[in-house]
Amino acid sequence: MKAFRASILDFTGDPLQGREALRYFEDGLLFVEQGRVQALGAYDDLRSELKEGVTLVDLSGRLILPGFIDAHVHYAQTDIIASRGEDLLDWLKRYTFPAEQAFAGVDLAAETADFFCRELLRNGTTTALVFATVHPGSVDAIFAAAQQLGMRLIAGKVLMDRNAPTELLDTPQGGYEQSAALIERWHGRDRLGYAITPRFAPTSSDEQLELAGLLWREHPGLWLQSHVAENQKEVQWVAELFPWSRSYLDVYDRFGLLGERAVYAHCLYLDETDRRRMVETGTTAAFCPTSNLFLGSGLFDLAAAESGGMTLAYGSDVGGGTSFSLLRTLAEGYKVSQLQGYNPSPLRAFYDLSLGAARALGLDDCIGNFEPGREADFIVIDFSGSELMQRRIDRCETLEEKLFALMILGDDRHIESTWLMGECRHRREPTA
Ligand SMILES: [Zn+2]
Repeated sequence: MKAFRASILDFTGDPLQGREALRYFEDGLLFVEQGRVQALGAYDDLRSELKEGVTLVDLSGRLILPGFIDAHVHYAQTDIIASRGEDLLDWLKRYTFPAEQAFAGVDLAAETADFFCRELLRNGTTTALVFATVHPGSVDAIFAAAQQLGMRLIAGKVLMDRNAPTELLDTPQGGYEQSAALIERWHGRDRLGYAITPRFAPTSSDEQLELAGLLWREHPGLWLQSHVAENQKEVQWVAELFPWSRSYLDVYDRFGLLGERAVYAHCLYLDETDRRRMVETGTTAAFCPTSNLFLGSGLFDLAAAESGGMTLAYGSDVGGGTSFSLLRTLAEGYKVSQLQGYNPSPLRAFYDLSLGAARALGLDDCIGNFEPGREADFIVIDFSGSELMQRRIDRCETLEEKLFALMILGDDRHIESTWLMGECRHRREPTA
């Protein structure tokens, strides 16, 4: 058994519904046994449990948070981050498709997958919902890398049977069979889960989307991930490709691809009916602000999503996104909302990275907070990781102010260490 002493923060519910959902111990103690949370409380209340055989890890002066959850990211786009392009469709053609073609090679896939997982951990991300490429070997590579580190990770093979280079196309039946084999091989093994992954409506035929829906119904407990309504030209293209559809989201709805455990990146151009369908079906919107700004796609309406009760999580969307850090992501998300006259709560933002995202993914019985029995995935925040942050924190009077400073100024320098199932899997290099 291990016990971690630090300031400790987590959520037991949505803090917008009531502040009591925030749980904070200025001087706290977190007990972990065999990788799972055993107890959480104030140091003074639990110190008598520090018996022989319990290893005390003293992190006084630091803040422990549940590990962050990235709800939308492409591992094969790691090396095209920060590539200059005009907009989504131009960017896909110039950078994404050529980069993804190279993932036919298993060595590149394995090396990139390993780097990607370590980069997630370096940024405090302990779980992610990940796009691989169209190649089954690219899925094997990301699962093997996550398994090696003991990470909880969900990924899937991209389904794409039209409107992309020939080398990247599968067929409806072939994509269905490859996905089924990967599900058999990986889903539910250790901490890994499978997501059916049609890239987006323009690159899948009706038949492929039909089979994606069939696959999802055949395997209860699977996730589904895709993109929707990211860019206005893309929305127009979808209207031309699916002339019968009422809206872009309606295409997915028609094929039975909305529901709990379905996560759609972007959701920028939704109408009232679309929003209602998202809420009715329990479908999750992944807000990817660094990507939306970088590609000039548009502004996500966070106020409408929150007030309408839409299930929500944040995504880094690397490589369209410009940072692996979900702290950087929150900062950009805040600015996107400010531009629309909405001032989001930092408490809700940190909930969205932890319990909120865990609930969105149906994983809140495993991760997301420090209830007894949860898998002990957590991060240690060190405000002194940069001098400026420390100066700002020293002048904060409330916890909320500190969290706000963390989300606006924070990055990988402030992630001192990252723990999976109670084991340290990343420790920041000591600064000079
Ligand atoms: Zn994406």
